[in-house]
Amino acid sequence: MKTYLLLTLTAWSFTFAACSQNQKSTSTNMNNTTMNKSDDEWKKQLTPEQFNVLRLKGTERPFTGKFEDHWDSGTYVCAACGNELFNSSAKFDAGCGWPSFYEALDKTKVIEKQDFAHGMVRTEIVCAKCGGHLGHVFDDGPKPTGMRYCINSVSLDFKSKKDSSSIKK
Ligand code: FE
Repeated sequence: MKTYLLLTLTAWSFTFAACSQNQKSTSTNMNNTTMNKSDDEWKKQLTPEQFNVLRLKGTERPFTGKFEDHWDSGTYVCAACGNELFNSSAKFDAGCGWPSFYEALDKTKVIEKQDFAHGMVRTEIVCAKCGGHLGHVFDDGPKPTGMRYCINSVSLDFKSKKDSSSIKK
C-alpha cells in the first residue's frame, strides 16, 4: 500500500511539473508576441500621423491614403511592428476612400474589438502583435467572405511580392 501511494505521488508530481512547464512556455511565447511600448517610445518610432491613427485611433481623410488606389501584388504589414496583415489578393475597390480587404491574412493577425465611439456601434480592428489601431470591419463586403476590412493606409506598409520571397502565403 505504501509503495502504491509513493508511486501515485511520484506520477502526480511529474504531471504537475509537466503542466507548469507547459504554462511557462505559453507565457513566454505570449511575451514574445505582445509589445508593451510606452507612448514616448511609439512617438519616437512613428510619424505624428501614424501615432495619431495607430495609437490614438484617429482616421485618415478618405481618398488621401497611399494604398487606397494601390494594386501591386504583395503583403500589407503593420506600419508599427511589421506584423503581416493582409494579402493583396484580398484587396478590392470598395469606393469608400480607404484600402479595403475581404479578409485578413489569417485570423490570428488581427483582433476585433467593439467600438462605441462617435455614437456608432462598430467593430474595430487592431494589430494582434502591437495593438495598433488599423480600422474597422463591416459585413457589407464582397464574396467569398462578405466582410470589408476598412483600413487606414497610414497604419500599413507594403512588401512587394518581388522582394518578399520569405513571406508565407
Ligand atoms: Fe502592429
